[in-house]
Amino acid sequence: MLVVMRPDASAADIDYVVRRAGSLGLKAHLTRQHDQTVIGLMGDVRGLPVDALAGLHGVDRVQPVTHPFRLASRDARPGPTVVAVRDRMVGGEAIAVIAGPCSVETRERLLDVAVRLKAAGATMLRGGAYKPRTSPYSFQGIGESGLELLVEARDLTGLPIVTEVIAPEHVPLVCRHTDVLQIGQRNMQNFALLNAVGESGMPVLLKRGMMSTIEELLLSAEYVLAHGNEQVMLCERGIRTFETYTRNTLDINAVPLLKQLTHLPIIVDPSHATGKAGLVRAVSRAAVAAGADGLIVEVHPDPDHAWSDGFQSITPEEFGGLLDDVRRVAAAVGRRA
Ligand code: PEP
Ligand code: MN
Repeated sequence: MLVVMRPDASAADIDYVVRRAGSLGLKAHLTRQHDQTVIGLMGDVRGLPVDALAGLHGVDRVQPVTHPFRLASRDARPGPTVVAVRDRMVGGEAIAVIAGPCSVETRERLLDVAVRLKAAGATMLRGGAYKPRTSPYSFQGIGESGLELLVEARDLTGLPIVTEVIAPEHVPLVCRHTDVLQIGQRNMQNFALLNAVGESGMPVLLKRGMMSTIEELLLSAEYVLAHGNEQVMLCERGIRTFETYTRNTLDINAVPLLKQLTHLPIIVDPSHATGKAGLVRAVSRAAVAAGADGLIVEVHPDPDHAWSDGFQSITPEEFGGLLDDVRRVAAAVGRRA
């Protein structure tokens, strides 16, 4: 059960609800959602005097929790969450298009692609400095120097940075450089990492694990939200199925379904979802048509020589074409890009 307090509720009002919950044998878990305090009541809520609680001073409403996730649910917040990344808003009318290489490679390549992405109209720049790879023999990312190159690219173009953090102990360092902390699909259930990014208060892009359900994704988001960090974007990046012609299978159902279940913005990654550069443009159109709030696309100036994921990376020129399509589809569904 959730007790949603009014924005003008006093500390004494909140304290009174917590004490009432205690007297009913329930544990209260407090979080701030925008300007409201939400009190989650844990324990046996059967027979709870809902009307009496709803009538307490400062209480906006008492809501049953119909899903195992609470703070991410539309029950907790009916309207959409808009995540602010510097001056870019994600989850509002505008479709956010995050683009850049899979990995940060050389200074020249990163600055080159960043300038071209900015000119094409990208919203943010992506690039991994720390790469979680299936094989320990694969390129693991250039590390801290990659973060510095991303900052240089941001200074040059004004594009906010999205980069992955792979370990809780790296969170302070990555936070000092980036604007969005990406949690990769392999780490979706790394709970120590989720707690650390929750505590950081930074915007988070949480990717769905390739073998995770939608409910598990939302429960992972819950870890971040439980720290009072509301700046969470979810990312559908394809799941593992029996199909082998594509790298993953984009779960397009997840997009409208997540829009129903949660107030958090939904981003689609057509690059990892397909694993094929030639499919990225069409799948981007589909994602926007299905209601995605944004895309994260791998773009490389020379895909054949990329240090990771070149086969699914499009060129800056192809990215321009993709954006043209995205703008048209966005207009058709009442959005803009
Ligand atoms: C990436 O974005 O480059 C990446 C590693 O993605 P995922 O975690 O979805 O595999
Ligand atoms: Mn990649």
